[in-house]
Amino acid sequence: MRSISSLTGRIVLPGSADYDDARMSYNARFSKYPAAIVFCGHVRDVVNAVRWARENGYPLRVRSGRHCYEDFTLADGGIVIDVSPMNGVRFDPVNRTAAVQTGVRLLPLYEALWRHGATIPGGTCPTVGIAGLTLGGGYGFLSRLLGLSCDQLLEVETVLASGQVIRANDREHADLLWASRGGGGGNFGIATSFTFRVHPISCVAIYRIVWPWRDLPLLLNVWQHWAPSVDERLTPSLVLSAGFGGYCTSSGLFVGPEWQLRELLAPLLAAGMPVETEITTVPYLEALYRFGGLKKESAQWQMTPEHRHRFKNSGAFVYRPLPPRAISTIAAFLDAAPSPICMIIFESLGGRLGRIPAHATAFVHRQASFHMQYITQWTDPAADEAHLRWAESIRKALLPYTFGQYVNYPNVFDADWAQAYYGSNLSALRRIKRKYDPDNVFRFAQSIPPL
Ligand SMILES: Cc1cc2nc3c(=O)[nH]c(=O)nc-3n(C[C@H](O)[C@H](O)[C@H](O)COP(=O)(O)OP(=O)(O)OC[C@H]3O[C@@H](n4cnc5c(N)ncnc54)[C@H](O)[C@@H]3O)c2cc1C
Repeated sequence: MRSISSLTGRIVLPGSADYDDARMSYNARFSKYPAAIVFCGHVRDVVNAVRWARENGYPLRVRSGRHCYEDFTLADGGIVIDVSPMNGVRFDPVNRTAAVQTGVRLLPLYEALWRHGATIPGGTCPTVGIAGLTLGGGYGFLSRLLGLSCDQLLEVETVLASGQVIRANDREHADLLWASRGGGGGNFGIATSFTFRVHPISCVAIYRIVWPWRDLPLLLNVWQHWAPSVDERLTPSLVLSAGFGGYCTSSGLFVGPEWQLRELLAPLLAAGMPVETEITTVPYLEALYRFGGLKKESAQWQMTPEHRHRFKNSGAFVYRPLPPRAISTIAAFLDAAPSPICMIIFESLGGRLGRIPAHATAFVHRQASFHMQYITQWTDPAADEAHLRWAESIRKALLPYTFGQYVNYPNVFDADWAQAYYGSNLSALRRIKRKYDPDNVFRFAQSIPPL
């Protein structure tokens, strides 16, 4: 390897004690061996690493929370620029904004904002990084009320391939801000800081209802007509899980009183024969712990080898209600799942998220009613093929009823990925790519090709 004396930050090289830890991704299915991983504590470390990688001809990857489904953040023999040490959050009470460094993970961010009675809409998994989440969209239990994480983004500081540091906002580099609102991580440069509009939050009403497996067809049909148009203060989900005899669970968060949530849930409760119903009011942070599967005392959960598993997830947007034939296909695939942790998560859209025009940000799928995520997890590498085949077969079988995919749930098996992620925003994104990264330095399996 060339001399690394001009690199700054914490540099981890093959052979060092922390190398295996440093190259670990959330998805245990991947194992790659970069030439160096540069943990950047300052923007100047990022600038130095970009320049050094370019001068010495190394492929470059960008990383924050390490949750990419397809591991686009590592390259064998490449340089990984990891922004995770830059994880500060500064709340501005006057402007109701927060300056957030892009290395922060979701739970520490939510906790920091909660201390000011504030939040941004974002994902449910506590360890996802704010960088990848926001750059690709950022969906969660407040999205029907407040929109996506990227809809709150007012400014992004970015290190370009040239090493120049720019701030994109409504006044300067507005095209880069537009592209950073849903155009996908790792495409245009390295985001080092976001400024978000924040929203007040206190207590919320949440629910969880469980049905037996036999209720699946009826329940899914009721849910798909109800969830996208129910009061937008409520964001409901539905999980159909094949394991352990199969069960169907709907959960959701309502920014309003519990009695009103009970009324809104009436059509869902009337579907089939629920076996468990919980409706309660909790502080918003408590709701996040519950949805993230955390107890308070373990909230600082870190990514460790024992928390990782092999997985293959992908998904699709649904614009029109699924016909009975599609629902039967879903049930048949789940019944034939290769192992217990095979499920579909339905995430309701609509509300404020859906009122933002498709071309106002790079996130194009505004008119979809809901999103379906196909999920499969396993531990034995010998079972890779069966699980990958199941996940891709169900996606293909449901293609006639779906349209497009979410860039934050990328799928390397989809040959038409660029159109699926970006639709009619693709050509604008390609023009912006050409402007900010003309030499295509930020390049990986599914990076946006310059026009
Ligand atoms: C368990 C789990 C739960 C999830 N839950 C949700 C959810 O509720 N809602 C939702 O919307 N999504 C969810 N996701 C998807 C998540 O939004 C994406 O995986 C996201 O890309 C992760 O971002 P990251 O920073 O953690 O990942 P990374 O793997 O570090 O990065 C992801 C992508 O962003 C790029 N990137 C990272 N940092 C930067 C940066 N500083 N500048 C530019 N590009 C960068 C990377 O190069 C890569 O292409 C979930 C994922 C997992 C694994």
